[in-house]
Amino acid sequence: MIRMSGVDKFFGPLHVLKNIDLEVPKGQVVVVLGPSGSGKSTLCRTINRLEPIDKGTIEVDGQPLPAEGRALARLRAEVGMVFQQFNLFAHKTIVENVMLAPVRVRGVAKDEARRTAMELLERVGIANQADKYPAQLSGGQQQRAAIARALAMRPKVMLFDEPTSALDPEMVQEVLDVMTTLAAEGMTMLVVTHEMGFARKAADRVIFMADGEVVEDTTPEEFFAAPKSARARDFLGKIL
Ligand code: ATP
Ligand code: MG
Repeated sequence: MIRMSGVDKFFGPLHVLKNIDLEVPKGQVVVVLGPSGSGKSTLCRTINRLEPIDKGTIEVDGQPLPAEGRALARLRAEVGMVFQQFNLFAHKTIVENVMLAPVRVRGVAKDEARRTAMELLERVGIANQADKYPAQLSGGQQQRAAIARALAMRPKVMLFDEPTSALDPEMVQEVLDVMTTLAAEGMTMLVVTHEMGFARKAADRVIFMADGEVVEDTTPEEFFAAPKSARARDFLGKIL
C-alpha cells in the first residue's frame, strides 16, 4: 500500500531521511519508534507530500505521489492523517468538521455527508457531541473527532503522528481504543507513538528510526524482547 524506495530528504544542510526503503502492505499496522529528531514526523509527512523529497520514490496503492493539482488532492484524500494537535476548525461544529472535506473535495451531497459523519461519530463514541464546537470537547473527544474527520474521506491508509501525546493521561486510552479497533478492522496504518502498550498489542511491525535511518524493522515481540542495535536498546532503556 505504501512503498518508499531510496528516499532522501534534506532540510538545508540537514540530512533528515537517509535512503529510506519501507513497504507497508495493505492491512498492516506499523508502529514507528525513535528518539526526538530522528525523522519520524518527516517520514509521515512525505507520504502525503506535506514535505517533498529530494531523492527516491514513494508510491501509495501502486501510484507514484503526484506533485500537485487535482491528483495531489486525490492522494491526500486517500491518505488520512491525524496529528498531535487536533487541528479541528474552531468555528464549525464537530459534525460540520467531519462533513467538510467530503462535501468540498468529493462533492458529496450535504445530507448524505451528514449521515455518514454521524455514523463515524457513533463509531468513535462521540455522536452525542456532534453539535458542539471543538473547544467544548475534551482533548480525547477532539482527537476522536479528528480521526472521524480523516475517516470521512474513506482513506486507504491512515497516518498517525503522536496522536495521544498532547492528551491528559486519562484520555489516552479512549483514543488508543479507537485506533486499536481500526487496526483490527484491517485499516493500513503507520503510527508514530510512544505508547508501547499499543505497539505490543496492535502493531504487526515495529520500525525503529535513529538519525534519519531505519535501524530496525521487525515484529514487536522481537523488538521488545531483543532489540539488535545499541541505539534501540538505549532508547528502550529510557522509555520503559
Ligand atoms: P519528535 O519525536 O521530537 O517529534 P521526529 O522524529 O518526529 O521528532 P522530525 O520532526 O521528523 O523528528 O525532525 C527530524 C529533523 O528535521 C530534526 O532535526 C528537526 O529539527 C528537523 N526539521 C523538521 N522539520 C523541519 C523544518 N521544517 N525545517 C528545518 N528542519 C526541520
Ligand atoms: Mg515528530
